[in-house]
Amino acid sequence: MSLLKIVTIPSKNLREPSQEIKPADISQLSVLIENMIDTMYAGDGIGLAAPQIGKNIQLIVIGKDATTNNRDWALINPQIIKHSWRKQTAEEGCLSVPGINVKVTRSKKIIVKALNQEGKEFTFTAEDYFARVLQHEIDHLNGILIVDK
Ligand code: ZN
Repeated sequence: MSLLKIVTIPSKNLREPSQEIKPADISQLSVLIENMIDTMYAGDGIGLAAPQIGKNIQLIVIGKDATTNNRDWALINPQIIKHSWRKQTAEEGCLSVPGINVKVTRSKKIIVKALNQEGKEFTFTAEDYFARVLQHEIDHLNGILIVDK
């Protein structure tokens, strides 16, 4: 297990968009993904995006308490392809914005397209807490933080 250093505000890279990952590079991500998951849990987080550990690539991990199958997920090049009209508001924290909770309004339900660790494209629907965590992490890939909400 190897913990990564979490980047906090006002680091400039948190405000920059992340690069799409090429399919040929996906097989080299497994150690990074494991380390991101360990770092997320060590920081008591439920999700982590690659820019938060200083890499501006389109990779996020989501902890098993938020996913639908009780497993940690890693998503490569995730894209929200549909947002529900219905919204929900709740307080969120962020490992890159320590000590602050912000009320954020987000779609209750989203449809996400991404690549898995095998490089296979898949599409899924997420609701409520899972949808909220995904929207938070995907915002990171676009340089958006909870303090902007
Ligand atoms: Zn965050």
